[in-house]
Amino acid sequence: MDQQSKHNSRLGLRLVTLLLLVPGSAALSDWVSDTRPLMGTEVSVHLWSEDAEQGQEALEAVFAETARIDRLMSTYKDDSEISRVNRVAATRAVAVGEELFQLIQRSLDISVLTLGAFDITFDSVGQHYDFRSRQRPDSETVETERENIDYRYVRLTKASGTVAFLKEGVRINLGGIAKGYVVERGVDILRHLGVQHAIVSAGGDSRLLGDRRGRPWMVGIRDPRNDGQVAISVPLVDEAISTSGDYERYFDEDGVRYHHIIQPTTGVPASGVHSATVFGPDAVITDALSTSVFVMGVKRGLTLIGTLPDYESIVIDSEGRVYYSDGLQQPTAEAFE
Ligand code: ADP
Ligand code: MG
Repeated sequence: MDQQSKHNSRLGLRLVTLLLLVPGSAALSDWVSDTRPLMGTEVSVHLWSEDAEQGQEALEAVFAETARIDRLMSTYKDDSEISRVNRVAATRAVAVGEELFQLIQRSLDISVLTLGAFDITFDSVGQHYDFRSRQRPDSETVETERENIDYRYVRLTKASGTVAFLKEGVRINLGGIAKGYVVERGVDILRHLGVQHAIVSAGGDSRLLGDRRGRPWMVGIRDPRNDGQVAISVPLVDEAISTSGDYERYFDEDGVRYHHIIQPTTGVPASGVHSATVFGPDAVITDALSTSVFVMGVKRGLTLIGTLPDYESIVIDSEGRVYYSDGLQQPTAEAFE
């Protein structure tokens, strides 16, 4: 064999070795994903990991954190901290853990910001719905229970770390904010474990960590009336996005859709909007604001979002028309002159 062909065969060998190595290394660094039923919805984690085993551990850590938060904050669990609060806070102040205290505090702050559209005391009416068995409160129950909806009935005392209700019949439910908290916590955990690219979702709330390895994540907003169809896709990097829709939990009766987002002033499901999407840096805020914009409607909702520089919104009204917050408006021709 002359020098040249020896060189060629060595090169060939190297190429073969390289080709053999590539699938091996791809199996090590890869996307790791799973979806599980949790918090009355589906929670999914999708992350890029350099090491399959570490990736799997990171994923398990997020699911464990979700289950922990659910045990604390679910009103469907009798032994949760929040259920204890609902049982006794109208009689005496209840000491709660720092985490629940903080999330209630943030909820009340958002009630102030949204002039009461977001209100965790909606549950005095909300508790009478069971969407699976098509159960809803009669108008008499709505009338009485709606008197108990007002976030100002919730008194937090920082020094003692306690929650008290100022009225008998008041109940709280963090369904409009807890999933945002879960995905935010999930991404926090992943970040601390060194993960750089991930998406953590709980129902309509997603928190993205970094990008999709050199490309933005494309997050689809569902077509509210065509199951499985995407109406609009939004490219996002390192942000949170939440959608509240009247198609998540509902039943139709005599042409009326009874769904899970309650207008606090009337005690009945909010009308006028099919879905409200909000995106920005913090999933706790996007979650609470998507519910709020849904309740406030297109005009008031988008006006509120216009006052928050880091947050944008896309609303689909009950006629299927799409509205964008100011920061998303297409630049006009003049803008280029
Ligand atoms: P999803 O649960 O589909 O992500 P949302 O984030 O909009 O949708 O949350 C809806 C949930 O918020 C309801 O299931 C209920 O638990 C709670 N909720 C309903 N109405 C209100 C309201 N006016 N203010 C705060 N929370 C609400
Ligand atoms: Mg929400």
